[in-house]
Amino acid sequence: MEDTILVVNCGSSTLKLAVFDGAFRVRASGLAERLHQGDAVAHLRHHDQPVKLPPDASHREALEAMIHALVDLDVIQGTPSAVGHRVVHGGETFHDAVLIDEAVIEAIEDCASLAPLHNPVNLSGIRATRALFPSVPHIAVFDTAFHQTLPRKAYLYALPYDYYRQWGVRRYGFHGTSHQFMLTESAQRLGKTPATTSIISAHLGNGCSIAAIRDGISVDTSMGLTPLEGLVMGSRSGDIDPGLFDFLKTKGIDQDQLHHVLNHKSGLLGLSGQTNDMRTLCELADHGHEPSLVAVEVFCYRLARYIGAMMASLDRLDGLVFTGGIGENSARVRKQTLDHLRLSGLCLNAELNQEHGQNSDGYINDADSRFPVLVVPTNEELVIARESQRIAASQE
Ligand code: ADP
Repeated sequence: MEDTILVVNCGSSTLKLAVFDGAFRVRASGLAERLHQGDAVAHLRHHDQPVKLPPDASHREALEAMIHALVDLDVIQGTPSAVGHRVVHGGETFHDAVLIDEAVIEAIEDCASLAPLHNPVNLSGIRATRALFPSVPHIAVFDTAFHQTLPRKAYLYALPYDYYRQWGVRRYGFHGTSHQFMLTESAQRLGKTPATTSIISAHLGNGCSIAAIRDGISVDTSMGLTPLEGLVMGSRSGDIDPGLFDFLKTKGIDQDQLHHVLNHKSGLLGLSGQTNDMRTLCELADHGHEPSLVAVEVFCYRLARYIGAMMASLDRLDGLVFTGGIGENSARVRKQTLDHLRLSGLCLNAELNQEHGQNSDGYINDADSRFPVLVVPTNEELVIARESQRIAASQE
């Protein structure tokens, strides 16, 4: 029976599955959306097959239906050899991927107060998949683990120190699997080893974050205690003045409302009043829609500021790497961002940048740029699969 690794990624209302073969080639992938919302749908992408779900399907129901479909299609024969689970928050407990047992489940539960929207739903995926495949190794791969190397000066907020000591209030960082992938992939393209590679990695999707990686180790990143801090995102604000809380209270906006606004009504969506989708915004901006133009401008300027800030944690830069739906596809965002950074000596080549406009991979800097600039497609599922196989093999 062929080795297969199943990767399970449960978001708040979505479920992504991917099945890899022993050589880490994708055999199938699937997506369930709008779970718990009364109009759930699921689809196996590589086989272009819808999967029937009850309209109010839960993560567990979607998972079971999709796995049964994968077994029926013979994509999973018998049982997978390992199952990798994306877990958003590992707090300070998890510095690496880990084999899941009852103690690990308890520790993930303990981290749930730091990620109440994510960890419980990750756990429900873990429980449901363990029930389906009780005899195979299940591995948790944490978004936060790669950033556990941040030095104190980067992870501490300037708050009463007791908040950190008692409650773990600090910056954790997220998108760790993607930034780690950027490290290994760009090292390969640069002809270096990951341990000797220093990059700035910009992951720009619906969520956006940037990381400074020095000689293979994450030394700073833009997301913090939660994935709300830092860059402008699709519908998240990124950095704001904490004084806003008091000010908006005087306008009758309470904490719950503000929480909703900062997470779901801000960012590109809030600024443009139209959409959280960068591609649509660029089209609208091209047609002279001023609020969309403003949204793209703020997004790029904030990103440029963060690229500059990340330089403070590096003593050498082997490359600036763009990834994620926006980073990989939007020549406009990359240009508008780097236009702010001429002083740093980061220079794009206009033609290469344009050429690498769509799902591409390669260098986009000018010959006289002080540092290489690259576009590298991310693949978080692949990192989870590789990590899961590494941890499963270490148990044999
Ligand atoms: P997620 O974080 O949900 O995985 P993605 O990494 O797929 O998201 O990124 C989604 C974002 O990428 C959206 O804002 C989308 O508009 C943007 N995007 C995709 N293709 C393009 C493009 N050609 N030009 C500009 N933005 C694009």
